[in-house]
Amino acid sequence: EKRESSNFIEAEINKDIENNVYEGGRVLTRFPPEPNGYLHIGHVKSIFLNFGLGKKYHGATNVRFDDTNPVKEDEEYVNSILNDIRWLGFQWKEPVHYASDYFPELYEFACKLIRMGLAYVDDQSSEEIHNTRGDLEHPGTESPWRNRFVEENLKLFQEMRDGKYKDGEKCLRAKIDMASPNMVMRDPVLYRILRATHHRTGDTWYIYPLYDFAHPLSDALENITHSICTLEFEERRPLYNWCLQAYDGKEKPRQIEFARLNVTTMITSKRKLRKMVEAKLVNGWDDPRMPTISGIRRRGYTPESLKKFCDLIGVAKADSVVDISLLEYCIREDLKAKVPRIMTVIDPVKVVLTNYDENKIEYVDIENNPEDPSMGSRKVPFGRNLYIEAEDFMETPIKKFFRMSPGKEVRLKGAYIVKCTDVVKNDDGSIKEIHCTVDFDTRSGTPGADRKVKGTLHWVCADTAVDVETRLYDYLISPDDHDDGRDFMEKVNTHSLTVMKSKAEPEISKYHVGDRFQFLRKGYFIIDQDTTEDHMVCNRIVGLRDTWSK
Ligand code: ATP
Ligand code: MG
Ligand code: MG
Repeated sequence: EKRESSNFIEAEINKDIENNVYEGGRVLTRFPPEPNGYLHIGHVKSIFLNFGLGKKYHGATNVRFDDTNPVKEDEEYVNSILNDIRWLGFQWKEPVHYASDYFPELYEFACKLIRMGLAYVDDQSSEEIHNTRGDLEHPGTESPWRNRFVEENLKLFQEMRDGKYKDGEKCLRAKIDMASPNMVMRDPVLYRILRATHHRTGDTWYIYPLYDFAHPLSDALENITHSICTLEFEERRPLYNWCLQAYDGKEKPRQIEFARLNVTTMITSKRKLRKMVEAKLVNGWDDPRMPTISGIRRRGYTPESLKKFCDLIGVAKADSVVDISLLEYCIREDLKAKVPRIMTVIDPVKVVLTNYDENKIEYVDIENNPEDPSMGSRKVPFGRNLYIEAEDFMETPIKKFFRMSPGKEVRLKGAYIVKCTDVVKNDDGSIKEIHCTVDFDTRSGTPGADRKVKGTLHWVCADTAVDVETRLYDYLISPDDHDDGRDFMEKVNTHSLTVMKSKAEPEISKYHVGDRFQFLRKGYFIIDQDTTEDHMVCNRIVGLRDTWSK
């Protein structure tokens, strides 16, 4: 079977298959999140990549929680992460794995390294170890404890495990090369002493393995073939391979690095996102402004739009920043033919049609989606009292303002041409209501409708309107943000949520939490989970204007 490769990782896998590196050409990838927060847009890319490879090669993908750091990890995060993966449309190979499942094997393997003369217990503090690493110009200094005998190392390591020493009093280090040009290889720490309750193993362990040690072994124990990770791990690959060499697995997993995804306006670090949640700069991890998968989902994005986004950005070997407008383009593209359009006035101002019968309500026919005639049409009530958008009226119009202003005519979508005759003010000078007259000869669908006017406005019949709370969002971080030395917490836009009291046509009552539609001229919206029986809440997913050009 000849396989096309659509990126450099697939090209590498194809080579491995040709050379029969893995028996039967099998492919097994893994997605290894640390359960220390909610997944974000960067993880979306990693998920589509890893699970995509599993699918493409008729292989599979493991989920493994990289839970070697008990202090920051929690079951809440495990559940949200699994939920996010499922929502994106993927199924991992059962069971779900945890690096902590391998603590006994990792311990045994560490003992093996000691016996091989490849690891030693160091009594130096982490500060001393840090200060004796040297730098790129200078070799590091060997620890005075580097040449302990195997028997002593084994005894001390066992005592570390049994809780005989205080946190940080000793550690286990690999014995590699304190003069290596790769700083990672200067006797890296493999195990540290830490008294912390682990979310799965409780208080069983006083020592915890470090990522660089746990990861290659976990990959090997699961028979992973291709261990895909982000670019910052490239310099750690020699250590990854060093561990596997010592472990002596037959078919070694192979680490391949790709560029992290960065998106303008989005923070892609769980640690930073957690700080924002804890400081209450946002309303939780699933705030619709958050770049978390749960935030993006609640905002109204679809898995299909995220897939399209990942396909368009591709898989690169060099870091770059993708413009947020590309993601917005993807959701518009996905929704434009899929979801119905309805009329909602976000910021209503009242209009009275003075020559229209007070007791009359008529129904006008409006198509549900001009992109897809098969979606049909609906009857929309129309009467003497209406709402239009406040911004669609200007008492003293500026040049090229073709919406409503005194003396001018506009068409009300699907209904009549009306002419503004009067503006009634409140005591404070604000507009109380706008008076118009209807030209009854211009009803849409009749011959008189041919008469052209420049503007067409959406509207809602006041007597049948449904109250809707609409939530409009701005970016948390400015799209033109640059590094100006300020901490990210100072840059977060705390005025990024605007809540509006809006009026929708009664059609909206048919829909439920999670349903999406286009509010004519105002963007795509989704009904939010805060909706109750008598209070509807809609999130704006994205506006209509497309700023991304190919
Ligand atoms: P964070 O700093 O947000 O915690 P991380 O890399 O430490 O990110 P992990 O939970 O360890 O997060 O990540 C799981 C997987 O997702 C890893 O394979 C990691 O490389 C990948 N990943 C994380 N962030 C990105 C990103 N921005 N772009 C692509 N892949 C990412
Ligand atoms: Mg990580
Ligand atoms: Mg991290």
